Amino acid sequence: QDAFEGVDFYGIDDLLSDEHILIRQSIRAFVKKEISPYIEGWSQNAHFPSELIPKFGEVGALGPQIPPEFGGGGLDYISYGLIMQEIERGDSGMRSTVSVQGSLVMYPIYTLGSDEQRKKYLPKLASGEWLGCFGLTEPDHGSNPGGMKTHFKDKGDHYLLNGAKMWISNAPQADIAVVWAKDENDRIHGLIVERGMEGFTTPETHNKWSLRASCTGELVFDNVQVPKENLLPGKSGLSAPLMCLDAARYGISWGAIGAAMDCYESAKRYALERIQFDKSIASFQLVQKKLAEMLTEITKAQLLVWRLGTLKNEGKATSAQISLAKRNNVSMALDIAREARQIHGAMGITGEYPIMRHMMNLESVITYEGTHDIHLLILGNEITGIPAFK
Ligand code: FAD
Repeated sequence: QDAFEGVDFYGIDDLLSDEHILIRQSIRAFVKKEISPYIEGWSQNAHFPSELIPKFGEVGALGPQIPPEFGGGGLDYISYGLIMQEIERGDSGMRSTVSVQGSLVMYPIYTLGSDEQRKKYLPKLASGEWLGCFGLTEPDHGSNPGGMKTHFKDKGDHYLLNGAKMWISNAPQADIAVVWAKDENDRIHGLIVERGMEGFTTPETHNKWSLRASCTGELVFDNVQVPKENLLPGKSGLSAPLMCLDAARYGISWGAIGAAMDCYESAKRYALERIQFDKSIASFQLVQKKLAEMLTEITKAQLLVWRLGTLKNEGKATSAQISLAKRNNVSMALDIAREARQIHGAMGITGEYPIMRHMMNLESVITYEGTHDIHLLILGNEITGIPAFK
C-alpha cells in the first residue's frame, strides 16, 4: 500500500535515477507512517514532536548532502530536493525543522567550519542527537540583515556576545545555534553558541497561526562568553549567511511542490466524490479549470527544480536562479492551497483535510528565507544591474 502515486504529468520520473526513486519512496513511506497520522493534532495543539528528530536522522533526512564521513548521506541535490518535497507533502513545519538542521546548521559548519568543529558537531546533528538553529533575523532587521545589532568583542581568551535574534526556527529546543554577529569592525561572522552557556536563553514565540508543529523562538545573548574556537573560520561578511540561505532556499523550492501536490490530490479526490446538483462537482467546468491550472503550475514547478537541481549538482546554480525558483514555487503552492480550499467548500477549513494547514504554513514559507518581494528585487537587480532595495 506504499506504492508511490505522484503528480507526474510530464514523465519527470524518467529524468530521475533508480536511487532517486528509492530515496523518494523511503521518505514517502516515512512521512506516511511517522507524520501524516499525527500532524493535524500536533498542529492544532502547537506541539513540536521532538521525538521525530532522531527518526529524521535514521531515515537520512538530516544533512543528506553532507559527506558520509561526517554522518551525512553524501547524496546529490536532486535527492536532497526530493527528500524536502516528500517531507513538506507531510507538513511545511516538519520540512522547516529538517531544512534548518541540514542547510542552515550542518551546511555552514561543513563549509565554513574548522576540522574540529566538523568532527564535534556534524555527526551528532546528522543522527538527530542534537538539534540546531540558525540565528540571522533580529527584531529590527529582517529583510535587511546587514543592519544587525548583535555583536561580539574580543576579550583575549573568549568572545563576549550581546544582542538578540527573533523568529528563529527550532530555537526553543535547539542544542546549538549558528549565530551571525558583528565584530568590533562591523564585520559579520558566524559563531556556534551552545545551550548551557551562561547568559544564553531561547524564549518560545507563542500564538502562531502558521507552522504550528514547528517551534519558533528568540535567541537572547546577555554577555555570553563564547570560546574562540567556536567562531566559523571559513568566511566572514554578509555573503557568509547569504550563502547558507541559498542552500535552504533551494530545498524550499522543492518542498513547496510537496505541499502543492498534497492540496491538489486532496482537491481532485474531493471534487470527484462531492455531489452537488446531482453531479460530482468535478463535472463542472469551473472546478475543472481550477484542477487543470493546479496541474499546469505543479508541472512547471517540477521542471524548474529539476533543472535547478542539475545546475546545483554541477556547482552552477546562481543565487538569482534559486530566488526565482523559491519565489515562483512557494507562491504557486500558496495559490493552489487557496484554490483547493475553495474546492473543499466548508470542509476545507477543517482538520479533516490538510488544506488549511498547508495554506497557513505557506504564509510563513512565503515570508521566511527572503520574502516574495525581496526575491523579486533580487531578480530585478540581476536583470538591470540596479539594486532597488534601498
Ligand atoms: P520585514 O523585513 O520587516 O518586511 C516586511 C514587509 O516589507 C515585507 O513584505 C517585505 O517584502 C517588505 N520589504 C522590506 N524591505 C523592502 C524593500 N527594500 N523593498 C520592498 N519591500 C520591502 N529567521 C532566521 O534568521 N532564522 C530562522 O530560523 C527563521 N525562521 C522563521 C520562522 C518563521 C515561522 C518565520 C515567520 C520567520 C522566520 N525567520 C527566521 C525570519 C524571516 O526570515 C523574516 O521574517 C523575513 O526575512 C522577513 O523579515 P521581517 O519579518 O522582519 O519583515
